[in-house]
Amino acid sequence: MSAFVRRNGVLHAESVSLLDLARRFGTPCWVYSRLALESALDEFQRELAGFDALVCYAVKANANLAVLDVFARRGAGFDIVSGGELQRVLAAGADPRRIVFSGVGKTAAEMELALATGILCFNVESAPEVDRLDAVAGRLGKIAPISLRVNPDVDPKTHPYISTGLKQNKFGVAYDDALALYRHAASLPHLEVSGIDCHIGSQLLDPAPFAEALDKILALVDQLASEGITLRHIDLGGGLGIRYRDEDVPTVQAYLQPLLRKLEGRRLRVLLEPGRRLVGNAGLLLTRVEYLKPGEVKSFAIVDAAMNDLARPALYGSWHDIVPVVAGPGEVIPWEVVGPVCESGDFLGHGRELALAAGDLLAVMSAGAYAMAMSSNYNSRPRAAEIMVDGAQAHLVRRRETAEELYALERRLP
Ligand SMILES: *Cc1c(COP(=O)(O)O)cnc(C)c1O
Repeated sequence: MSAFVRRNGVLHAESVSLLDLARRFGTPCWVYSRLALESALDEFQRELAGFDALVCYAVKANANLAVLDVFARRGAGFDIVSGGELQRVLAAGADPRRIVFSGVGKTAAEMELALATGILCFNVESAPEVDRLDAVAGRLGKIAPISLRVNPDVDPKTHPYISTGLKQNKFGVAYDDALALYRHAASLPHLEVSGIDCHIGSQLLDPAPFAEALDKILALVDQLASEGITLRHIDLGGGLGIRYRDEDVPTVQAYLQPLLRKLEGRRLRVLLEPGRRLVGNAGLLLTRVEYLKPGEVKSFAIVDAAMNDLARPALYGSWHDIVPVVAGPGEVIPWEVVGPVCESGDFLGHGRELALAAGDLLAVMSAGAYAMAMSSNYNSRPRAAEIMVDGAQAHLVRRRETAEELYALERRLP
C-alpha cells in the first residue's frame, strides 16, 4: 500500500500535497504516512492472527514518539537496544510487558531501569551478560526474564555491515555454546529462562535463511526441553527487506508462512522484531534544489538535505529513489544529487535522470527507516523537522532544531 501518490502531477502524502508541506514546514523535512505505518503493521498482524504472537517493533529504525505511538495503539510491542530507547517507548505509552531488550552492551544502569520497569524479556547476548544480569537482579530483589540470542551461523546474503548472524559477527551466543550457557543461566537464582532469540541480519530479500535459522533454533529448543528447560517463547528477530529500487521483495505472508508452519503444534509464543519493514517505505525526505552546477564530466544538483540527514547512501552505498515533486519541463540529464556537507562522500544519488531547475522540490523515497534515526549535526546542521501525515492532516511531530540548540550543551572556558 503506497501512501505516496501523484495527483494532477503533484506528489502527495496521503491527501496532502508535498508542495504544501514544503511551504508550511520548510525543507529539508521528513514526511511519514500514518496509513503506511498502520498498513505495514497490519500485514504482520493479519498473518499472525490465531497465533499467540507479539510484533515488537525494532525502535532503532525510527524512534519518533509519534511513530511509536501509532504502533503502540495497534497493540505492538517494542524491541529496544538502549536505556534511551526504553525511556522513549515509555514516553510513547508502551506497555512494559511488551518490551524486549536486545543489544550486546547493556550496562548495569540500563538493566536496573529495565528491571524496575518490568519488561517482558532481556535478549542476552553473551556469557558475562548472563552473570551481570543475575547480579543486578539479585541486588534489586528481582527475577529477570531472559532469552539467549543465539547465533545460528546462517548467511543472510545481505550487506556485510547489516548481516549479524554469522560466526564472525559480534552479536549473540555461538550456537555450539548456547546449550551450556542455558544450563548455567537456569542454575542462577535471579534469572528466569523464558525464551530464545535470533536475528540474522537486515534487508533480507530471501525467506530461506529465516527458515534455515529457525530449524537450528528449534533443534536447540528440543534439546533444552529434554533437559527440563522449557521455553515459553521464540523470538525470530527482524530483518525482512523492503523495496528501495526494483528488488523482488517477499510478502510478509511468504516470509511468515513457512516459519509458522514449523511452529505449529508447539506451545511457543512467537515474537518478531521487524524494524525496516514497518517504517522504511512509510517515509520520505523532502528536499529542495539549491543550485545546479552542470559540468562536462558530471552535473551536480546541490540540494538542502545531506549525508548528516540521510547517511545510508554515504555509509552503505544505498540506493534511494529520488523523484521530483512536480516533474519539470526541462531536459532529462543525469545528475549527481549531493548535499552541502564538505565531504566528497556526501551524496544522495549518483547519475539520476531528472529534469531539474533550481528551487525544485525532490522526494528521496523509502526514507522511513535508519534515516532520521541515523542523522547527525555534522557541519553544524540542525536536524530536519519530521511531519506525520494522517489523511488530510499534517502534524509536526518533531520541530526543526535551531542553531542555538546545536551548542546549547557546550560552554566556553571560564
Ligand atoms: C536492528 C534489529 C532488528 C530490526 O532489524 P530490521 O532489519 O530493521 O527489521 C531486530 N532485532 C534486533 C536485535 C536488531 O538489532
